[in-house]
Amino acid sequence: MALPHVLAVGDLPDQTLRLASQKFTVLRSLDRGVGAKTFSPVERNLVRGVARGLRFPLDADWINQWPKLEIIAIFGVGYDDIDVDCARGRDIVVTNTPDVLTDEVADAAVGLLIMTVRQFRAADAYLRAGKWASFGPFQLTSSLRDRTMGILGLGRIGQAVARRFSAMDLPVVYCNRHPRCDVPYRYFSDVLSMAEMVDTLVITAPGGSSTVRIVDGPVLRALGPNGVVVNVGRGSIIDEAALIDALSNGKLLAAGLDVFAIEPEVNSDLLALPNVVLLPHVGSATVATFNAIGALMLGNLTSWFDTGRTITPIPILPARTGPRS
Ligand code: NDP
Repeated sequence: MALPHVLAVGDLPDQTLRLASQKFTVLRSLDRGVGAKTFSPVERNLVRGVARGLRFPLDADWINQWPKLEIIAIFGVGYDDIDVDCARGRDIVVTNTPDVLTDEVADAAVGLLIMTVRQFRAADAYLRAGKWASFGPFQLTSSLRDRTMGILGLGRIGQAVARRFSAMDLPVVYCNRHPRCDVPYRYFSDVLSMAEMVDTLVITAPGGSSTVRIVDGPVLRALGPNGVVVNVGRGSIIDEAALIDALSNGKLLAAGLDVFAIEPEVNSDLLALPNVVLLPHVGSATVATFNAIGALMLGNLTSWFDTGRTITPIPILPARTGPRS
């Protein structure tokens, strides 16, 4: 039997691509303008699935180049850079890869927070530059002790972060659009009210229209001059200009960022600041977790072509009013 045609786009691990080619006829392209230019109309008519790797936004124009497309399987959790409405309008199923990366990203958030507050990156540079031997001990730093953690986006990753903080004896509160019944932490329905009660903001919310720049100047000021922000959610959630202003002018102590408003071109003003730790979007980027993400993405494609069902479709958000159990 002929294998289904799958177009693999964006960055994908070699192992995932190898496994994909055993199950599907894989067309590969890293070119965003792919479609009309790269493939013939016959080939474009054969593509039934897309394996969407990293750094490859899919807008309506792109999606509409594939007339027989049935499924877009995302490598990762976030789908803020995919025109989901266009996909739904064409009955194209969209899947992502929740859970398999949760602990990895939570580990990264905690590591980034500690690096930021305790200035371990600067301390490492101090030692390597021979300054310890020449000038004595590194300067004393801020502490995690006595901080209160405000988590913006207490979903899978946010809860995994919260569990780690609880084990570290750090008090946790959170902000979601909806309160959860299954957690012991205090709830805030808006991020400004939460920021007024905490000094450390950890962002684990998704990107998309409901979160664009909700961490703005007033929220950053509310954290206070001892305030710290860690972002492993999406860069679009923070007003980056306001963040740079707050960090430059003593209105905020420090920030640890794994995600940025524009990637991979990070704002040069951020790069120049001494009180930031900047990571190149590596929250889930380990060999084991990338392979697990790839396996789930391929599992969704296989399941769709074999049974007409997927394992982890993205949620179709109903209008909800009550708390989530
Ligand atoms: P979940 O869907 O489990 O959790 C998202 C949480 O955010 C939910 O609790 C949701 O609650 C809350 N939320 C959504 N919109 C808002 C809003 N407007 N205001 C406040 N809270 C909001 O997702 P995951 O935990 O699995 O992943 C979260 C995000 O982490 C991903 O979408 C992605 O952007 C990012 N991520 C980053 C990675 C990295 O490498 N840095 C890797 C993987 C993911 P409610 O619906 O009640 O608002």
